[in-house]
Amino acid sequence: MAKIKSSNLGYPRIGENREWKRALEAYWNRTISEEELTEKTDAIRLENLKKQKEQGIDLIPVGDFSLYDHVLDTSVTFGIVPERYNYSGGKVNIDTYFAIARGIDDAVASEMTKWFNTNYHYIVPELDGVKPKLVENRALDYYKEAKENLGIDGKPVILGPITYLKLSKGYEPNEFNQLVDTFLPLYVQILQELAEAGATWVQIDEPIFSTNVSEEIVEAAEKVYRVFAKEVPEIKIIFQTYFEKVFHFERISQLPVAGIGLDFVHGDSLELLRTYGFPQDKVLAAGIIDGRNVWRANIEEKLTLLETIQRFVHDDQLIIQPSSSLLHVPVTKTLEEKIDSVILEGLSFADEKLQEVVTLTKGLVTGRKSIQTEIYEVKEALGNLQATYRSNKEVREEITNLTLEDAKRNEIFSERIKLQEERFKLPLLPTTTIGSLPQTPEVRSTRTKWRKGEITDKDYTQFVFDQINRWIAIQEEIDIDVLVHGEFERNDMVEYFGEKFNGFSVTEYGWVQSYGSRCVKPPLIFGDVSWDKPITVKESVYAQSLTNRPVKGMLTGPVTILNWSFVHDTTPRYEIMKQIALALQKEIEALEENGIKIIQVDEPALREGLPLDHEKWEEYLEESAYAFRLATATVAADTQIHTHMCYSNFEDIFDCIDALDADVISIETSRSHGELVSTFEENTYTKEIGLGVYDIHSPRIPAVNEIKQNINRALQTITPKQFWVNPDCGLKTRKEDETIAALKVMVEAAKEVRKEQLTTQR
Ligand code: GLN
Ligand code: ZN
Repeated sequence: MAKIKSSNLGYPRIGENREWKRALEAYWNRTISEEELTEKTDAIRLENLKKQKEQGIDLIPVGDFSLYDHVLDTSVTFGIVPERYNYSGGKVNIDTYFAIARGIDDAVASEMTKWFNTNYHYIVPELDGVKPKLVENRALDYYKEAKENLGIDGKPVILGPITYLKLSKGYEPNEFNQLVDTFLPLYVQILQELAEAGATWVQIDEPIFSTNVSEEIVEAAEKVYRVFAKEVPEIKIIFQTYFEKVFHFERISQLPVAGIGLDFVHGDSLELLRTYGFPQDKVLAAGIIDGRNVWRANIEEKLTLLETIQRFVHDDQLIIQPSSSLLHVPVTKTLEEKIDSVILEGLSFADEKLQEVVTLTKGLVTGRKSIQTEIYEVKEALGNLQATYRSNKEVREEITNLTLEDAKRNEIFSERIKLQEERFKLPLLPTTTIGSLPQTPEVRSTRTKWRKGEITDKDYTQFVFDQINRWIAIQEEIDIDVLVHGEFERNDMVEYFGEKFNGFSVTEYGWVQSYGSRCVKPPLIFGDVSWDKPITVKESVYAQSLTNRPVKGMLTGPVTILNWSFVHDTTPRYEIMKQIALALQKEIEALEENGIKIIQVDEPALREGLPLDHEKWEEYLEESAYAFRLATATVAADTQIHTHMCYSNFEDIFDCIDALDADVISIETSRSHGELVSTFEENTYTKEIGLGVYDIHSPRIPAVNEIKQNINRALQTITPKQFWVNPDCGLKTRKEDETIAALKVMVEAAKEVRKEQLTTQR
């Protein structure tokens, strides 16, 4: 009898209705006590476990739950608390835990950054001089909880030492091995305590090996896992990777562990098996169901994939599971009531994905016939989706006929900029903002009322127009040179377009955790994308009608729209990116025809979309630049194209930024000025550029001199003729009075530097 098992790597924390988010925020606002928070989150966690048990999952993860972030959980497990929080040892209390994540008055929060290539953010551990100690064993606590309350013999999930240390900061590269030695006995202790409590399987997440790590890092892993095998032989460790194939598979597959977890959705893991085979003494935990996307799996194709995998392993070596934690997908599709039924039939969120895992396991164990109904149902659902929405001949043809020329402006930058200078006659160091203006409670509540049908379309439009009107006057009063309409009509820069392009849809409850309690609801790209009527023209034209100064049209770029959506997987991603670009091209043309002279196309997600595998970078960057240019290439030479990027490890994408061929780019930099300026010392950039001169994430009003300093520092490497003065990013999260005060300071600083420049030039 085959012993194929089903497994899960992690379950969404947020609850079906984001109960988790509400509980956390209530606690932060002090409307519930710590006891109440614990009660509520315990209930969510146990409910999640119960569901997985009822679904019939054999290996249920425990310890994947978190009150904020699992990397932060790992830090506090080891008592790693930066000095500024006055921690004095022992189990880290909940307020200190949240303080590290969110900051308190007298101690800034720890840095937060993206978890690999996802839109989940983790809290970066600060190891500076700290002495790690095992101050709690979360894995053990959660293991016992599941066993005692639900009779579940769970599979504890632990963030592995190599990945944890590689994601940390506060040490020199040559201290890495020493740090590994320091943490090693603590990890051993965690495992020993788990073994004593009766745990068998333990999943140790080491996704860092899905990136191009060096041989030295592999050596470190060999040492660590050798020690685990020796010290805790009774624990069956699954060395879990995800998001890409494993690098150094030849060596990794020989680690002395019980199993290796591979992602068969996002990396070519099958190719690894074909090349290197799979050791016969280990379990292969095969990530078959996509943990990063929301579309139903084609059960038949997956079964075929599994049958291929079976050529490399015996049945008792095989575990079937999602490709990654289900943290990255919404909880369940059963709550969706408004969405088109063909689309709904094609969806699969966390709960449905677990069902797919179970179905596949059954199919393998008892034969294809036993899941014939499921196979048939999926086929029909996916077929309907394909036939109804993924067969737009016109768009598909347009894409196939594209050439390099189609993505090229007629004139080169140096010619365009002359015409633009004549047209706009902007002063030296022109001032502008990034697009959004404060979304006050009034703006948000009015939108909610309109969505609920409590106010009419007409009243809502009038409300938005009133905001635009008021803010055009404010911007003129502050004396900003290039204005924005303020994006008052938008909830989110991607969802807004997602609701309006063909081929997109939005869900009601499709939330996923982005960071802490913050969840996002990515739009779905379910079909071929196309444009049929103007989206932003009305607001932009109205804003422009109110002033003689140029008002920027404001769009989200093709790369960002793609990266921040759940994209269906039957058309290659880059093709969908081009479809989005063509749709945007039509919107841009509509803006231009209606008198908009400057158009900004934001690409904040360009950097984060870089594939984990460096070998795939070039293609990604080329395709991204092509799509951006395709969207923006058809405008007249004297129409000025802007783009904006949030802080983005700039060196990696410098050439791509240049290849976008935007006339003006603004980049978030105020927290990393030195670094950026040095990038410009090493590379020549000839187009116009605004390096954010103040940080919009903080309510603090900058001083004139600070901003002048930032401008002057940039002017050491960028010529004054090239430089624009703007804040770091959009202003939608700031209060109105803060925004006005800060912008006044910014304009004053720009004017002073302008004057100084003009006198020295003379
Ligand atoms: N135009 C957008 C805004 O100002 C850009 C946001 C972003 O970069 N994430 O809000
Ligand atoms: Zn930004």
